[in-house]
Amino acid sequence: MKIIFATGNNNKMREIREILGGLTSEINSMKDEGIDIDIVEDGSTFEENSMIKARAVASYCREKGMTDFCIMADDSGLEIDYLDKAPGIYSARYLGHDTPYSEKNTQILKKLEGVPDEKRTARFVCAIGAVLSDGSEYVVKATMEGIIGHEIAGENGFGYDPIFFLPEYGKTSAEISPDEKNAISHRGKALRMMEEKLRGSFNA
Ligand code: IMP
Repeated sequence: MKIIFATGNNNKMREIREILGGLTSEINSMKDEGIDIDIVEDGSTFEENSMIKARAVASYCREKGMTDFCIMADDSGLEIDYLDKAPGIYSARYLGHDTPYSEKNTQILKKLEGVPDEKRTARFVCAIGAVLSDGSEYVVKATMEGIIGHEIAGENGFGYDPIFFLPEYGKTSAEISPDEKNAISHRGKALRMMEEKLRGSFNA
């Protein structure tokens, strides 16, 4: 059974292959498979959105006559408690889809000006949904907890990483190495949870 992951992001694909490689050697992105479909992510939770994507790709594959597949999709974002868990599932389009993250991060720091550390709690969330050709479905969710820092720091990572401060490291998630981040990140954790859930299906 091959895995098709509903993403076009090469960095994500590298991490996915590393963590799910024990299940099968055939792990492709939607792009590798030549699948190009528009999916409306209109769910109200990370889990719903990941399943909407995985189900949409699975029905497309069934229509094309494909068999023996495992479609996976992820949905992730940042929840800031002080902002009532915003941007949440709207993380990519928050403050404008095309607004550079340097600007979005600056605006978030402004919104939290004067807010003490204990009220700056936040987390990255990642849900992964899987739909198998036999009709079975799985969903997992994991988080990485931290606080919103007081300044932009770090060049690694992407998106909101430069303002996401990890108190146990004394650094933002943009200041730790990619390997360090994969070991503790929401996506790394969710991928490992999914790997464990699917082991039985791949060994059968
Ligand atoms: P997506 O699930 O890949 O579409 O990610 C949604 C959005 O959440 C991204 O565009 C980022 O804004 C944010 N995000 C998710 N994971 C991370 C992360 O590990 N670091 C920084 N931003 C993230």
